[in-house]
Amino acid sequence: MEKTKEVQMSVRVRYAPSPTGLQHIGGVRTAIFNYFFARANGGKFILRIEDTDQERFNVESLEDLYSTLDWLGISWDEGPDRDGGYGPYIQSERFELYKEYTQKLMDSGHAYKCFCTAERLDNLREEQKKNKSKEQGYDRHCSHLTKEEVHQKQAEGLPFVVRFRIPVEGKTTLTDVIMGEITRKNKDISPDPIILKSDGYPTYHLANVIDDHMMGITHVLRAQEWIPTGPMHILLYKAFGWDAPLYCHLPLVVGKDGSKLSKRHGSTSVKEFINGGYLPEAIINYISLLGWSYDDSREFFSKEDLEKLFSLEKINKAPAVFDYKKLDWFNGQYIRMKDEAELKKILLPILIKDSIVSDPPSDSELAVFEGVFPIIRERLKKTTDISEIVKFLFKDLNSWNIEDAVPKKMDIAGTVEMLKLSEKLLNGFENRSVEENEELFHKAAEEKGIKLGPLMQPLRVAVTGSKMSPPMFESISLLGVEKARARIEGLIRQLESEI
Ligand code: GLU
Ligand code: ZN
Repeated sequence: MEKTKEVQMSVRVRYAPSPTGLQHIGGVRTAIFNYFFARANGGKFILRIEDTDQERFNVESLEDLYSTLDWLGISWDEGPDRDGGYGPYIQSERFELYKEYTQKLMDSGHAYKCFCTAERLDNLREEQKKNKSKEQGYDRHCSHLTKEEVHQKQAEGLPFVVRFRIPVEGKTTLTDVIMGEITRKNKDISPDPIILKSDGYPTYHLANVIDDHMMGITHVLRAQEWIPTGPMHILLYKAFGWDAPLYCHLPLVVGKDGSKLSKRHGSTSVKEFINGGYLPEAIINYISLLGWSYDDSREFFSKEDLEKLFSLEKINKAPAVFDYKKLDWFNGQYIRMKDEAELKKILLPILIKDSIVSDPPSDSELAVFEGVFPIIRERLKKTTDISEIVKFLFKDLNSWNIEDAVPKKMDIAGTVEMLKLSEKLLNGFENRSVEENEELFHKAAEEKGIKLGPLMQPLRVAVTGSKMSPPMFESISLLGVEKARARIEGLIRQLESEI
């Protein structure tokens, strides 16, 4: 698809989730691609709720949808709360329309009533399985009922569904901006799908096609999972006498092992990422690269950049691998780039929630937080990492993990010796700069003929309770050298009781 054709028409795209669970990162990728495509072309982005599956629909997932889009800062031009003249935007409020259009299809011979019982359909399926029959699915049993027969059955009050008549001959082509032409023989399309259920509810196919047409959707950007049903949708457009929108099926999002991204790989719902300490900037940047690239090198894109730069031509065909490590890296980068005051506004509530500081924090807690902020900022991959990293500054430490404290190739006695040496080296600590203290420890290690690591590790564990901590000497300054000394002595006592 050339760019010119894309922009010739005024773009109208939609995100059409079925709220049956938490917003999946793959779904949100679809949402933001639609959003950016609309923005980059001065078009409209529409939010449509596909809640025709009333059994699986639930209110929590609808709330999750809104809060997720809100958190990402993705706003829609038209949707349930924003009428643009094409509403309602919730399918359960459009049932009359679907009935009316089903009638049209029946009148033109493209659809028919099917009175088959569940039992008959079960038997049919069993038979097909048993005979390994080439014919799969519905056998078009009711497609030849005469008008009289239909009247008769309805007079008897028999329940029915409405099925769409798939032509037996010929083939159907779907034109996809990315995949090119996708052609299926009509006889390979699952015969005569239900479009209206016995309770009068439409199925996804019918509602989706009618709404895309009625809402003037120009491009359908959706996951590749929908390709198999694409040709059937094209046949529906033809039956109605409508032009189909341009399709643009987005590459699958897979885990490292190549299978579709699922819980097995890690978090998949945006909610988990929100609670897990990720910034919306990082999520948007990372998922925009799941199947799209600007060029071979540029990695950083703000939402505002993408609103200008996004284009369909740069979407790939190949599956996109969701790399959790890469996302963490992006997140760390965005934490570093974040405005200081804004980042503090995110971090402080985490400390309160994790009961690291009081609610509200005391002045002295705030002072410690201000002091530690510059040195931990570099170390955060997720905002939620903060509690573990700074806990030692706010909480007493009375027992230590011996395994963490004892360096490799060293025993407990050796570790005690290291701690005693460190304690000695802390004499006059406050009168020296960080560099001078570093220098001092370096020299001492050298004189002992050991590396700096085995000297620092027990000290680090003693002071912070963790092998991973902000820079050692800054940490000691923040804690206060007397407290540090007391902790070193505490760990020595604990180690000695182990000997
Ligand atoms: N409601 C469908 C879904 O949840 C929409 C598919 C489409 O975009 O056509 O994925
Ligand atoms: Zn039937």
